[in-house]
This record gives sequence, C-alpha cells and structure tokens, in this order.
Amino acid sequence: MDFSLSDQEQMLHDTVYKFAKNEWEPRTLEIDKEERFPMWLWDKFKEMGWCGLMIPEEYGGAGLSLLELCTMFEAAAHAGADIGTCLAWGTHCTIGSLPIVFCGNEEQKKKYLPRLASGEWIGCFCLTEPNVGSDAAHVQCTAVRKGDHYVLNGTKMFITNGPNADLAVVFAATDKSRGAKGVSAFIVERKFPGYSVGKRLDKIGMHGSETSEIIFDNCIVPVENRLLEEGAGFTKVGAKILEYERNSLVAIWTGNLGYNYDLSANYAKQRTQFDYPIIRFPQIRERLVHMKLDYDISKLLMYRAASKKDSGKDGPLEATEYKIFTGQASQRSASEAIQIHGGYGLMREYKVERSLRDAKLVQIGAGTEQVLTELVARLITDTRSLIG
Ligand SMILES: Cc1cc2nc3c(=O)[nH]c(=O)nc-3n(C[C@H](O)[C@H](O)[C@H](O)COP(=O)(O)OP(=O)(O)OC[C@H]3O[C@@H](n4cnc5c(N)ncnc54)[C@H](O)[C@@H]3O)c2cc1C
Repeated sequence: MDFSLSDQEQMLHDTVYKFAKNEWEPRTLEIDKEERFPMWLWDKFKEMGWCGLMIPEEYGGAGLSLLELCTMFEAAAHAGADIGTCLAWGTHCTIGSLPIVFCGNEEQKKKYLPRLASGEWIGCFCLTEPNVGSDAAHVQCTAVRKGDHYVLNGTKMFITNGPNADLAVVFAATDKSRGAKGVSAFIVERKFPGYSVGKRLDKIGMHGSETSEIIFDNCIVPVENRLLEEGAGFTKVGAKILEYERNSLVAIWTGNLGYNYDLSANYAKQRTQFDYPIIRFPQIRERLVHMKLDYDISKLLMYRAASKKDSGKDGPLEATEYKIFTGQASQRSASEAIQIHGGYGLMREYKVERSLRDAKLVQIGAGTEQVLTELVARLITDTRSLIG
C-alpha cells in the first residue's frame, strides 16, 4: 500500500499551500473581523482556475479527482487559511456544482457548468429548512408543476454562500404523499422571479463564509431546470451529493488539525517558563503527540475515503467514519491548541481561538454526529431496526 501523493497531487498540494501561506493566512484576522466572503480571494481563485475543481475540462473546469480536490482543501487549511472562506470555496466547488456535473443533462451542463467553472457565478445548495434539518427527506418547500414550469414556495435555512450565490440547487416536494420519493431537485437562478435572499445569519465562527435564508415566493422555474426525473431529488441527487460533501468539505478541518499542531508545536518551542521551553514539560509533549495523531489519522481516513470514491465504488462507511472522527478530533485539537498557548491562546492575534469557534460545524453540517453515528451502526451491524 502506497501512502505517498502522486506527482500531480503533490504539485497541487504545494501550489495551494504556498499561496495560502503567503497571501491568505496573513489576512485571516481581517476576514474573521469583517465577516464577509473576501471577493479579492475569489478573483484570485478565478485567475488560478480554482473555481471548477471537479467540473470536467470540456465544460471549463479542472477535471480533478476527489482526492486531488481534498488535497487542495487540506493544504489551504493546513497553511492557515480560515475555515470559513475554505467552506465558501468548497461549497461552490462541491455541493454548489456537482449536482449538475453528476445529475445534469447535456443542455444543463452546457448552460451552467462553464459559468460555475470560470467563477462568473457562485453556487449554493438548498436542502435545509427552518423546520427540516436531519430529517431532510421531508422538505416542506413545494414545487407545483404548471405546464412548462414549476412554482416553488418555501424557505431554505443556513445556506452557505446564500447572500452571494447566483445559482442554487434546490430541493422541493413535488408529491408530499411519497415522502423521500416525492422530492425533486432544481437548478434555480438567482434572477428567476420569486427568488430572494432572506435573513443574513450571524454565526459563532466560519466568518469568511456568509450564511443566509433563501426564500422562494411563487418562484418560477422552467421544467428543463429539473435535475433527473421528478421524485429523484432526494434518493438520487441528494444521496450522491451528500456522500461527496462528507468526503470533500471535511478535508478543510483535516488541514486545520495540521495548522493547530504546527502553531502549538512552534509556540511550545519558543515559550519559556521555569527556565525551560514549555515543550520540555511532559504534559505539553503528550498533548502535542495527541494533536499530531489526530491530524495523521484524519488525513489517512481522508485518503481512504476519497481513493475509494475515485476508484468508482460507493464508500458511505468510509466517508462517514472520516467525518465523525475528524469532527471529534477538531474539538480536541482546537481546545488543546489554546491550552498550550495559555492565556495568549484566547487572544485573536495568536490565531488558535478561531479554530475552537470554527470546529463545531463539522459535527453538525451535512449530517450531525449523532445521525452519522447511527448510519455507521446500521452499516456495520446491517440492521435497520435500531431507531424508528
Ligand atoms: C454554518 C452552517 C452552514 C450550513 N450550510 C448549509 C448549506 O449550504 N445547505 C444546506 O442545505 N444546509 C446547510 N446547513 C444545515 C446543516 O446541514 C444542518 O444544520 C444539519 O443537517 C442539522 O440540521 P439542524 O441544524 O436542523 O438540526 P436538527 O436536525 O434539528 O438536530 C438537532 C439535534 O437533534 C439531533 N438529532 C436529530 N435527529 C436525530 C436522530 N435520529 N438520532 C439522534 N439525534 C438526532 C441532532 O444530532 C442534533 O443534536 C448549514 C448549517 C450551518 C450551521
């Protein structure tokens, strides 16, 4: 078994790491304070061709594999890029674009993918609603067909990129009596009548990513904008994309584990107490060892999950285990990084307190830790009777 990166993966890693270290990390305090997605960074992504990472080359994208994309997200966060901005970028590149890559027909791909790949348009993904979170198959937003179009009504909640997105992949019930099989997915342009951005949400962390409600008030969506057949929204589009989401966006938190470790190890070498650098104290060393272990294990789980997916096999167990482990490791690592920095760790300029604020989302978004733990239990025990 070979755990080394290919030349291409290494090149992508090094390019992103260098860019993030030199141009992105030095501005993270400013991004965190402004609580806005930095458009100067988006312009850089456009220049570097980083807006359509997994969009096939024939539609203007980079045509990368999942492992290559994960390697890039991991490298950015490891170099110190803030989780929020990485999340906004990652959302566009994965759940904001991949539904069209994997489930779009040729006309939909030709019409939308080049704009997403060039960065002219930003994408978002609208599944969650004010009253529908983990039980996502029971969306209340409706889509009623009227001749050559659907009329969408409802509100979507917690939408990453909501305030900035030009295009949304939206899940709405076309037949409520059929439950999960009555949900359809649509490509909805921001300029369609009846689409509006609702309340902008004020979050604990991830400040470089903007989050809002998206409201559909008699929003007119042409029939040709439905992805796959009616009723396939949750069972085919959602199911496929959520596995990719777990596999890909989590790489941002993996990178953050490496960043916390690097900052903490460097600090421990420089900070002197009782006449010794604190790295000499066994309790500091032990904490550092566990932080490094968490980073290494998360990275190995990332390689395993992404490689399996790239080989053409489904890997719900691998993706889910990766997300659960990385979620728990992120809490530990962020807390230990502050502990090693002592009082300075609570000061923004030392750049470790932000990880604690940013760490929680990975245990909630794209399936909460409890729901995913139940999923793993079902997968490994092969029983569907544990709950409900
Ligand atoms: C910053 C941020 C960005 C997000 N971005 C997006 C986005 O771009 N697009 C999108 O569609 N959504 C997005 N989400 C929504 C996210 O995916 C949901 O928050 C998540 O799925 C959980 O739903 P909920 O918050 O409604 O919690 P709930 O489902 O209400 O859960 C509340 C609690 O109950 C527990 N629980 C629920 N069901 C079970 C069960 N069966 N067994 C045990 N415990 C259970 C949960 O684990 C949790 O602890 C985002 C959320 C946040 C916070």
